[in-house]
Amino acid sequence: STKFVIEGLKATIEGKEILKGINLEMKGGEIHAIMGPNGTGKSTLASALMGHPKYEVTDGKVLLNDEDVLDMEVDERALAGLFLAMQYPSEIAGVTNSDFLRSSINARRGEGNEISLIKFIRQMEGKMKELEMNPEFAHRYLNEGFSGGEKKRNEILQMMMLDPKIVILDEIDSGLDIDALRIVANGVNAMKSEERGFLIITHYQRLLNYITPDYVHVMMQGRIVKSGGPELAERLEAEGYDWIKEELGITD
Ligand code: ADP
Ligand code: MG
Ligand code: MG
Repeated sequence: STKFVIEGLKATIEGKEILKGINLEMKGGEIHAIMGPNGTGKSTLASALMGHPKYEVTDGKVLLNDEDVLDMEVDERALAGLFLAMQYPSEIAGVTNSDFLRSSINARRGEGNEISLIKFIRQMEGKMKELEMNPEFAHRYLNEGFSGGEKKRNEILQMMMLDPKIVILDEIDSGLDIDALRIVANGVNAMKSEERGFLIITHYQRLLNYITPDYVHVMMQGRIVKSGGPELAERLEAEGYDWIKEELGITD
């Protein structure tokens, strides 16, 4: 079964240390939520795990089923089964959504094992229907002119089609109205499996009403400072983060 281990991960941006030693262990079948105030390094963690060139990892280990992720190029990480739905998905002009998806799937499946066009289209149409996406989005350029909510649904479509082992969702709930939130959450819940782990980064507890985490971690100033169950997210929603700062003697 899937195992994902982050050990003492430190990362810098333009020489400034943002991640100060992140430790986290996840197994297939588990949903972990990371919550924390703005600017504490949640997106930096997601980007560092995926190998974004802007972030320099200076220490630590990241293992996916005992394979060292930090040794891999960005595309190799995706092939190994890491998936990130970004907080701000980028637009790619000239590449249609459907072409992008099909080439990503085929890269992940490997040469000689490409998905047939018929099967791909059938799958994509089925998933788009589940996500209540307009079929024309298949033929639009990737994220170009998509609204915030459409981009988020499209990230979930990619996740569903790519069948990753570790799914990282960075603020997938931001900018979603309640209907879109429910659709996105249903998509995530439908993908729950013993072989797949989820790391859900969110600023608000709201999303966790729809996707129940097994573990909740609080990130502050580049570290995970507290972990618990779903009740921790509820307390954060009710009381904010100050009580944790007091508990830990953090002043800022
Ligand atoms: P969060 O996702 O928790 O809101 P981020 O990981 O986006 O936090 O940011 C953590 C810190 O790193 C912030 O102080 C932010 O200003 C800084 N930072 C993030 N990305 C960059 C970047 N590309 N260049 C410079 N500083 C950055
Ligand atoms: Mg932020
Ligand atoms: Mg962020």
